[in-house]
Amino acid sequence: MAYKITLIPGDGIGPEVALAARKCLEATGVSFAWEEVIAGTSAIEKYGTPLPASVLKSIRKNKVALKGPIITPIGGGFRSVNVALRQELNLFACVRPAKSIPGIKSPYQNIDLAIIRENTEDLYAGIEFQSGKKDTLRLLELIKKLQPKKINASSALSIKPISAAATRRITEFAFEYALKNKRKKVTAVHKANIMKYTDGLFLEVARKVAKKYTGRIEFNDCLVDNLAMQLVKNPQSFDVLALPNLYGDIISDLCAGLIGGLGLAAGANIGKSIALFEPVHGSAPKYAGLNKVNPTATILSGVLMLRYLGEDRAADRLEKAVYDVIAEGKFVTYDLKERRDDPNCVSTQSMADEICRRLR
Ligand code: NAD
Repeated sequence: MAYKITLIPGDGIGPEVALAARKCLEATGVSFAWEEVIAGTSAIEKYGTPLPASVLKSIRKNKVALKGPIITPIGGGFRSVNVALRQELNLFACVRPAKSIPGIKSPYQNIDLAIIRENTEDLYAGIEFQSGKKDTLRLLELIKKLQPKKINASSALSIKPISAAATRRITEFAFEYALKNKRKKVTAVHKANIMKYTDGLFLEVARKVAKKYTGRIEFNDCLVDNLAMQLVKNPQSFDVLALPNLYGDIISDLCAGLIGGLGLAAGANIGKSIALFEPVHGSAPKYAGLNKVNPTATILSGVLMLRYLGEDRAADRLEKAVYDVIAEGKFVTYDLKERRDDPNCVSTQSMADEICRRLR
């Protein structure tokens, strides 16, 4: 029977990379019944909202979704659809493997990291107060009464909720992921020396959870600034990283850079019974419609989806086909060539077609 999957092509380069991934997934021989729905800018034009209720309904029904990136306007405009989907569907764990792919020209080799990012709270909660607004001034007044530190009256404020419950859930997820994937170590990432109560709580709960895994999975912790430096100097010393939402977002991009760029970094958002798969990268608007960008990140997100569905053989075959095409270096997009202006680079769809050819 075909797997019913919600497909959200997304904005910018989204439709191109989603099409490439869809073709490759179908070429594995696994049967899919795609339910295509729109979110993002095209949904605003059609439905007047970037996240129509029909999108959530479709994902809740099918339980599994594959999604291209969706634009989030900077400063004003609508709030992130990507974040809203994770929050609405309680997709609390973001899993982003960062693994070196043979044949990629990168100063780093033998990288094998797994980023486990908390997806529902932290500064990503979207609880913000605009500078000068009545509610902001009221909140500033209240804060002034509650503690001695001064805040400039023209400040805008963002709230950073970190709870013991969400931290327990994500750190347990990280340890279980480590066990399931035969990993050795989990590192909790924080800035508890400065944010004593929020990151302090994250660290305290992570330490408690780690005790349950003593003797099975090693545990340590690292300040996020130190981690950024250590990842650049000696990334092989890390294994599974468990991070609050914002650090997870930033460190994911850093790790994508270590393995050769955003065009390669896959991701999954996992909840109790629903999962949504998407590349780490965004909608790269300047490349939209050019059939030029690398489809690998979305195709490998499809590999994660196959594994989630229990289709390990198809996942292994698709992953191998992607790796083989990259290692050969012939049918690859511009970003995987030694020189980005190499005239022999191929288009998004040609790279996907070559991957499909190797699956037949
Ligand atoms: P981006 O990831 O879209 O692009 C940054 C740069 O990375 C691109 O200019 C390009 O050089 C490179 N790149 C990205 N994807 C690539 C690919 N597949 N192949 C080759 N190179 C690739 O980041 P941005 O420009 O900061 O964000 C653009 C928009 O995407 C913003 O609105 C942002 O909010 C949104 N975004 C969405 C998601 C998501 O949907 N989950 C994630 C990140 C950013």
